[in-house]
Amino acid sequence: MTDPIIVVGAGQAGLQVAESLRQEKHEGPILLLGAEPHPPYNRPPLSKKWLQEPGEFNALLIRGSDAIARKNIELRTGVTVSAIDRAARRLHLVDGSKLAYSKLALATGARLRRLPVLGGDLAGVLGLRSLEDAAAIAAGLDSCRARGLPVVVIGGGFIGLEVAAAARKRDVAVTVLEGLPRLMSRVVAPIVSQAAERLHRSHGVGFVFEARVAGLAGDGGHVRAVHTADGREFPAGLVVTGIGIDAEDSLASAAGIACERGIIVDDCARTSDPLIVAAGDCCARRRADGSLLRLESVQNASEQGKAAAASLLGLEKPFTAAPWFWSDQYDVKFQMAGLSAGYDQVVTRGDLDKPAFSAYYFKAGKLVAVDSLNRIPDHMLARKLLDKAVALSPGQAADEGFDLGSPVRVPA
Ligand code: FAD
Repeated sequence: MTDPIIVVGAGQAGLQVAESLRQEKHEGPILLLGAEPHPPYNRPPLSKKWLQEPGEFNALLIRGSDAIARKNIELRTGVTVSAIDRAARRLHLVDGSKLAYSKLALATGARLRRLPVLGGDLAGVLGLRSLEDAAAIAAGLDSCRARGLPVVVIGGGFIGLEVAAAARKRDVAVTVLEGLPRLMSRVVAPIVSQAAERLHRSHGVGFVFEARVAGLAGDGGHVRAVHTADGREFPAGLVVTGIGIDAEDSLASAAGIACERGIIVDDCARTSDPLIVAAGDCCARRRADGSLLRLESVQNASEQGKAAAASLLGLEKPFTAAPWFWSDQYDVKFQMAGLSAGYDQVVTRGDLDKPAFSAYYFKAGKLVAVDSLNRIPDHMLARKLLDKAVALSPGQAADEGFDLGSPVRVPA
């Protein structure tokens, strides 16, 4: 019997690899291994709707076990791979057993960055990656509400802000401590940061910018307050850290696969080992100009998963589409398309105050990214404009009278 194609990591990307293998008509055995005790589930709701009103776990599932089995994919949950023996084409599992593979896909996701200060490991200091993390934060919010205690969120990025919104929805006081001078500053222009800040302040969130967290104080092992380097104390019944993630590339790097801030892959999700592909948050994609691109998004996990499955079967289906991402905060949908790094001009279209506007980022006159707040049609068009590299001037982007659909419409 042939050895299976094994996929390590039963998350968004791993499931996509396995399902795409079937879509590409692969008939041989597929084994999907996941360390978590659950079938693959959606993480985005964990900081959004689910955190506001925790519901049934089944509603989070991307696919149930039965549906996976019907595709003749063998899913084993609660299984952690501890090493890859590339010479013998074998995986070592933490329970001491070994599994042979014909080819391998790595979809091991990412791990949370921990707060590197004294008290960072106290009870009540939580990060958010898994269902269990979200359940612990939800319980912490309940407890804060019952005891009239505030929450401190460390990090004013997407996850931190979504947690802040969920806390306000549950009537818990929130202060966000952000190390930089504005919100989401690594990915959005000041105009978008300002709109987000206004939105959160209007819901009662407090902000401290350029905050340096010096340490956390506890009572009986549970966090009680956050101290900043300027001597201030922020009482907290719960501290949620949203300070980023690192690619989970430890298996790959220990096995000698090329890694740098993630498993290095090309546009077809191929690693430095011809028998091994990788997809999702664990990857860093080498681009044509030699730079490495790390994306942490559902789109990246799905599209790279499809490319990875094709590569395993000797096909070439590169993933090079413009990246996109979304975030829900209160009743505002933030949608980002493209990569704004290095932009030199931003113009806006729409109503900044509502907010219902889009920010168009240009680099040397070329459109490189669009952020939309409650402007879903703009976002959908932006993805097309960016994918087709359509020429659009800043003046056209800013002019509500200009039909943004016209440059991408196929002539009749
Ligand atoms: P994961 O979904 O993390 O799956 C990796 C799996 O591999 C995990 O289950 C892990 O346990 C397993 N694994 C790791 N090592 C091993 C091992 N050695 N053996 C066996 N199994 C292993 N993206 C968006 O586009 N929009 C959003 O609004 C959004 N919101 C988010 C909110 C939250 C709270 C989080 C956490 C993420 C959010 N994301 C969002 C990001 C998105 O969910 C991720 O990019 C996506 O889940 C990545 O999929 P993945 O398969 O690469 O990784």
